[in-house]
Amino acid sequence: MNINNIARKIVLQMKPYSSARDEFSETAQDYIFQDANENPFNSGYNRYPDPYALKVKNQLSTLKGIPSENIILGNGSDEVLDLLFRAFCDPKVDDIITTPPTYGMYKVLAQINEIKLKEVPLTKNFQLNANEIIQAVGQNTKLIFICSPNNPSGNLMNGQDIKYILNNFNGLVILDEAYIDFAAQNSFISELNYYPNLVVLQTFSKAFAHAGIRLGMAFAKKDIIELLHKIKPPYNVNQLTQHKAIEVIQSADIYKNQVEMILSERELLKAELQEIKFIEHVYPSEANFLLLKVDNAILRYHQLIEKGIVVRNRTNELHCEDCLRISIGTPKENQKLVEALNQLNQN
Ligand SMILES: *Cc1c(COP(=O)(O)O)cnc(C)c1O
Repeated sequence: MNINNIARKIVLQMKPYSSARDEFSETAQDYIFQDANENPFNSGYNRYPDPYALKVKNQLSTLKGIPSENIILGNGSDEVLDLLFRAFCDPKVDDIITTPPTYGMYKVLAQINEIKLKEVPLTKNFQLNANEIIQAVGQNTKLIFICSPNNPSGNLMNGQDIKYILNNFNGLVILDEAYIDFAAQNSFISELNYYPNLVVLQTFSKAFAHAGIRLGMAFAKKDIIELLHKIKPPYNVNQLTQHKAIEVIQSADIYKNQVEMILSERELLKAELQEIKFIEHVYPSEANFLLLKVDNAILRYHQLIEKGIVVRNRTNELHCEDCLRISIGTPKENQKLVEALNQLNQN
């Protein structure tokens, strides 16, 4: 794969915005900074943040076992997704492939960027139709999105299928691993050296318990990362987020323990849900949520709201008729959920 063949010409040719901190970022000495029109009085946050969040990346590099130069950070994974569209897809010309039912942002971003969307549905068991995906690839197909574990179905995609797609596609495969820390399988990060067209997305929003700081990350070959850096907003990850992220990474053990707790709660909750008559099926999950098929999703959704519990109604998604998606809560929250469901069961 040659990035020059798949990136937008306009992006390859453009000169990026050069910020004050791009032009001078030496930190070895205590310089007087009079180059960025900041307020010079120290508020703790009066200076612009590091555009490349190098301290965060160095910590992540150690945590994930991948060099810093293979990492880009964004204001949530959603920003990284948007950068991928803008770096690789020419509006009204290029297309992308998604595999419904899956995360809604891929489609929204395709619409905003005027990129044609080709949808190749997952099987009834929510697995990839790998052959059909490759058959759907055209001259102008730039990106294939695979979410694993998948939202909203919760299952991991078959690794051999992912590799088949990586091997038979000349564009980029965007593997969204937002939920990988809840899964029994390892991340595809370890495969990056074998697949130059692989981009792995992860986030601080789920296992790392920091959806509020908005920090997403992508791991890929250096040429891809450099191209995304070229077009990103200069200070896209703010200083509060950078500080917090370092704390979070240094406390990784806390979140590992929380993941363990969430996983045992998931199995407990699953067993209890299976006892409830109007719940027809609880799908296997490798994530921090359960997808369940009920007798009437709209009815049960509103009944739960009346009991003060908000779940996600996924009935309009492909293969998800009458399905609710329920995030695993704390033990207390899950207990209340089960009580509420049991009450509904009796009526
Ligand atoms: C929650 C989620 C994300 C996370 O997005 P952020 O912008 O990082 O919060 C990404 N992908 C999927 C599939 C998700 O469900």
